[in-house]
Amino acid sequence: PRLANQIAAGEVVERPASVVKELVENALDAGAGRVDVEVEQGGAKLIRVRDDGSGIPESDLPLALNRHATSKILTLDDLEAVGTLGFRGEALASISSVARLALTSRTVDQEAAARVEAEGRDMDARISPAAHPVGTTVEVRDLFFNTPARRKFLRTEKTEFNHVEECVRRQALGRFDTGFTLRHNQKTVQSLRPAESDLDRERRVGSLCGRQFIDNAVMIDTEATGLRLWGWVALPTFSRSQADLQYFFVNGRVIRDRLVAHAVRQAYRDVLYNNRHPAFVLYLEVDPATVDVNVHPTKHEVRFRDGRLVHDFIFRTLHRALADVRP
Ligand code: ADP
Ligand code: MG
Repeated sequence: PRLANQIAAGEVVERPASVVKELVENALDAGAGRVDVEVEQGGAKLIRVRDDGSGIPESDLPLALNRHATSKILTLDDLEAVGTLGFRGEALASISSVARLALTSRTVDQEAAARVEAEGRDMDARISPAAHPVGTTVEVRDLFFNTPARRKFLRTEKTEFNHVEECVRRQALGRFDTGFTLRHNQKTVQSLRPAESDLDRERRVGSLCGRQFIDNAVMIDTEATGLRLWGWVALPTFSRSQADLQYFFVNGRVIRDRLVAHAVRQAYRDVLYNNRHPAFVLYLEVDPATVDVNVHPTKHEVRFRDGRLVHDFIFRTLHRALADVRP
């Protein structure tokens, strides 16, 4: 089972950022109002994610590290209607098979917290008492310490941290109601309070995507035929030489989709005669029954029941917004 775990770990755990992604998703699934991410040496040495969510009952702590142990799916119906981000019960087991993992947690009913540790193998079921407020802290040290071949594939500290930062950026853009902090080598890189007003949200997007983006973007918010599209699209005055700034969320999950990309590009091209990569942070809200988010395990893909309707709605909405402000 150990080898099987390590092989399967490759699917979820590619680099520090993939660990951060899984841990933050768990925190969000636990209803966290605040998530603190701390990494050292780009995450290769330490990744610590702390939340103020529901916590894990002491008796469930050893279970949480078992493969296919998930508290999120009880029946087949649940599988159809997954509202949570995780549901396969693989992340913690996979991570603990390639790193030193410690899980400290406390629920509201517990007087004290408890802690379990695992080190590149099936858990040491010993539970020890610990000090921790209600919520959970997961610490992952020495990623790939027991799989040197994989450790060799880690890039520089800076590159790995950039991936971690990108991961937190996506999560924080997707959950305005949650506070986030990000620290690297004891330095605070992001500190985001929960955003409640339009101004708060705009400020958060500015912190995450740069003031330059938000100052050169139009805000849109349109609703029609059961669909809502809102967010920010950059005007041609926004210039960005580095990587793409393209974030599209469907019901809170970041996705990459050809149909969506096509609709956006088409609107830009039509109005602005602009073939450069458009920059945007957009949120599409649709009836969950009309979209399948489980096409792929990493859930970056979606399938819309009526793709044509979604495409045309996005195209028309952006077309109108951009035409209104055309220079
Ligand atoms: P999944 O998220 O797919 O259920 P994971 O391996 O990521 O599987 O987590 C296993 C289980 O551990 C979860 O189902 C949940 O019950 C528990 N768990 C993990 N992280 C947290 C957390 N931060 N807060 C509360 N429960 C958690
Ligand atoms: Mg999970």
